Amino acid sequence: MREFDTQTFRLAVAQFDQAAEAMELDHNLRERLKFPQRSLIVSVPVRMDDGRVEVYTGYRVQHDSSRGPTKGGVRYHPDVNLGEVAALAMWMTWKCALTDLPYGGAKGAVAVDPAQLSRAELQRLTRRYAAEIFPLIGPEQDIPAPDVGTDAQVMAWMMDTYSQQVGYSVPGVVTGKPLSIGGSLGREEATGRGVTYVTIEALRHLKLDMRDCTVAIQGFGNVGSHTARIMQECGARVIAVSDVTGGIHNAKGLDIPELLTRYQTNGQTLRETKLGDWLSNDDLLQLDCTVLVPAALSEQITERNAAKLRCRILAEGANGPTTLEADRILQDKGVFIIPDILANSGGVIVSYFEWVQDVQRFFWKATDIQDRLQDILTNAFHRTLQFSLSRNTSMRMAALMSGIDKVAQAHLHRGLYP
Ligand code: NAD
Repeated sequence: MREFDTQTFRLAVAQFDQAAEAMELDHNLRERLKFPQRSLIVSVPVRMDDGRVEVYTGYRVQHDSSRGPTKGGVRYHPDVNLGEVAALAMWMTWKCALTDLPYGGAKGAVAVDPAQLSRAELQRLTRRYAAEIFPLIGPEQDIPAPDVGTDAQVMAWMMDTYSQQVGYSVPGVVTGKPLSIGGSLGREEATGRGVTYVTIEALRHLKLDMRDCTVAIQGFGNVGSHTARIMQECGARVIAVSDVTGGIHNAKGLDIPELLTRYQTNGQTLRETKLGDWLSNDDLLQLDCTVLVPAALSEQITERNAAKLRCRILAEGANGPTTLEADRILQDKGVFIIPDILANSGGVIVSYFEWVQDVQRFFWKATDIQDRLQDILTNAFHRTLQFSLSRNTSMRMAALMSGIDKVAQAHLHRGLYP
């Protein structure tokens, strides 16, 4: 379908095709799983503070609902398009299946730079977007969560808008909410904590120790900053972090708590913190380190820079950070890749915990959340590793094949309607 045809969608489909080929997936199922089940494009008119009306484009794509309600983040970024949202929704389907969550995949987005909006404009944009996608979302239908450019406050506005429409409070319509309205302990840090847990397992497999590890992280938002903090708490030396402007590097290890205070609390830029030497995002990816964590956007590691990477482990915090060509180059170099649908699944796992708590109106302790998250991720990592070793295939293919197989089983049992 031409409307989805973008670079990111081609990457997601090429990965799917490779996995489908290797598992000899039924031809009819292949056709059904390649394209999303539902895609909605909406106009989001927003009255700006100066009285003008700006119209933004919003999306909500549900890739597959055969295993349950669909689930996936909402991204605010100026360059998003339908194909990228469809790719991200497809990855969500495989991710939820891989970790045995009773969900299908979805993704939403608005093509906007949130940094250019005032808080009041951001609230109006969010509420109008939520109202426009209202027919598609709900705790039994499709459950949004934060992603690039959105946070707990945006989720609170979405939850409130949905609740106003139905006339009562529905905490389970979104996850990643503030605690005061049914959010879960541990959700904000969940993706970074998950990246750390699977990295610990990968290090064990490679007979390496976290305390001898150096880590470089591209992207210092939700995923990147929590990964940095938790990796350091676990004994690693975080030597570089970056955001969209570039990064800082300190071979002795960055002081992450101090960096977080200066960057997040005091509003300094990475460069202004003066905690390390300035370096570009490209240089960061090429640093000599044990673990490299891309935690920004997709297609950052390409055939242009893959050969220059000097990490032992690539833990994909971001979705789709590695192109197909780069993947091949890294495999040839012997880099151990923890693929995105496994490495960053901590976010959706704790989102699932949040949804369960909301639906049951019964809330868990932080230690319960951490223990259950670690349990699910450790199991998923070792199942994927065993699959990869026994089938002599990459960790990425093993993860994709396991996820796709579970979705295929659901389709075969349910049959084709009508
Ligand atoms: P975020 O908006 O909180 O942070 C994004 C970070 O990336 C920011 O530091 C930003 O400055 C940086 N960035 C943006 N463009 C960049 C570029 N061109 N080069 C370098 N850095 C750049 O977003 P997030 O929630 O941390 O998400 C990051 C990635 O992780 C995305 O791929 C997202 O889909 C994925 N992810 C997020 C979650 C979650 O729970 N938030 C879960 C799973 C996967």
